[in-house]
Amino acid sequence: MLTYSSWARKCPAAVALVVQKFGGTSVGSIDRIRNVARRAIATQKGGHDVVIVVSAMSGETNRLLALAHEVIKVPDAREMDVVAATGEQVSAALTAMAIHAEGGQARSLLGHQVKILTDGAFSKARIKTIEGSKIFDTLKQGRIAVVAGFQGVDEHGNITTLGRGGSDTTGVAVAAAIGASSCEIYTDVDGVYTTDPNICPSAKKIPRISYEEMLELASLGAKVLQIRSVEIAMKYAVPVHVRSSFSDAEGTWVTGEDKALENDVVVTGVAYEKNEARVHVVGVVDKPGIVADLFESIAGKNISVDMIIQNVSKAGVDRADVLFTLAKTDLARAKGFIEEIAKRLGSSEVRYDEDVVKVSIVGLGMRSHAGIAAKMFRILANEGINIQAISTSEIKVSCLIHAKYTELAVRTLHDGFGLNRV
Ligand code: ADP
Ligand code: ASP
Ligand code: MG
Repeated sequence: MLTYSSWARKCPAAVALVVQKFGGTSVGSIDRIRNVARRAIATQKGGHDVVIVVSAMSGETNRLLALAHEVIKVPDAREMDVVAATGEQVSAALTAMAIHAEGGQARSLLGHQVKILTDGAFSKARIKTIEGSKIFDTLKQGRIAVVAGFQGVDEHGNITTLGRGGSDTTGVAVAAAIGASSCEIYTDVDGVYTTDPNICPSAKKIPRISYEEMLELASLGAKVLQIRSVEIAMKYAVPVHVRSSFSDAEGTWVTGEDKALENDVVVTGVAYEKNEARVHVVGVVDKPGIVADLFESIAGKNISVDMIIQNVSKAGVDRADVLFTLAKTDLARAKGFIEEIAKRLGSSEVRYDEDVVKVSIVGLGMRSHAGIAAKMFRILANEGINIQAISTSEIKVSCLIHAKYTELAVRTLHDGFGLNRV
C-alpha cells in the first residue's frame, strides 16, 4: 500500500499531513458545512496537506434507514447499504463545493473511489485495505481531499457500510493508511468526558485517555468514538484528538498508555448502552453441549451475544435457564431461529425484555484495586436499582438494569466514584 512517507520522499516540498473527521452535527447544515470548509482551508494555509472525512448530515442516516423500512420490514442487506451510503455521498460533495465557494480547491472521493476495500458483511463491514494513490494525487494537485465516511466496497464491487458511527473508523483508518501524524475527530462535544455530558451535568473532560480505556468505553456504549476506530488507532499507533468543531479548544488525546495516565484514578469513566435486549431461554436440558449448540447457531447468523448467565431452572430437574443479551437492533431477525433452536434443546419458552440498559464503569486502576465491583453494586442498591446481569473484565464492570434507571444509575455511579471531582 502506498504511504505518505514514500510519496513525501519523492516530493521534497511535502508538508505535514492532517486527517480531520467531521461528524453529523458538524456538517448538519449548509452554514456548518461552510464552517468545515473554512477550517480545512485554514489548516491547509497553515502549511498542511489536508484530508477530511465527513459523515452524513445529522439525522440523515436515520431518515434513510426509516425510508427503507417503510418499503419492507426486513430490507435486503445489500440494498440497505446502497441506501445508507448516500448520506455521506451528499455531504462529501457539498463540502467540496463549500471549499470551492470559499476560494479553495477540493475533490470528493467516495469509498469505492479511494478505494476502501472491506469484507462483504453489509451494515457492519470491516476495512481490509485502503489504497492511498487517489488521495495522494488529489493532494499533489494542491486540493483538499474530501473522503465520504462510513462506506467502502467489497471485492465484488458491492457498496458496504461500516456500522453506525463508522465515519470515525474511516477517519482513523485513512490516517493510518496514509501515514498521517494524527487524526482529529470533530464532534458536538469538546472531548471525551468521564461520562456522557448530555445526561450527566457533572461530567468532566478527560485531557488524555489510553487506547485501552477508550476501547472499553466505546465498546460499552460511549458513542463519541466507534469501537473499530479505537482498535485501528491502537493497532497502528495513530494519536486521536477528539475535539469540538465549534471551537479551537484543546480536546481529548487518545494515545498509548503512559506514566501520566497511571495516576490514582481507579475508575476513569461511566458508560451506558441502550442497544441491549435480554433473552431468557427457559428450561433447556442441562447436559454438556447444549449451551455450545445454542450459541454456535446464534454466531452462525453473524449475531454477537454480550452478557450470558446460566441458572438452575424452575422448569424441572436436569433443566437450566440460559439468559443472554444481544443488540436490540438484531433482535427482530434473531427471534425466529432462537425459538427454533431453543425448542430443539428442550426449552419450554423464550422470553424477551427490551426495557434494559447496560451501565458500566471503566478504569485501568481496577487492575490493582479490590472492591470496585462491590462498591458499584452498593451504589446501585442504595438507589433501589435491581441488577439483572453482571459481567466483568480486568478493567471494567457492567450491570444490566431496567432502562428507566439509566440516568439515575449513570449519575450516581459517576459521582459515587468521585468522577465529579477529577
Ligand atoms: P458525531 O455525529 O460527531 O459522530 P456522535 O453523536 O456519534 O457524534 O458522538 C458524540 C456524542 O457522544 C455526544 O454528543 C455525547 O452525547 C455522546 N457521548 C457518550 N459518551 C460520551 C463521553 N464519555 N464523552 C463524550 N461524549 C459522549
Ligand atoms: N452516518 C453514519 C451514522 O449515522 C456514520 C457516522 O455518522 O459516523 O451512523
Ligand atoms: Mg459518531
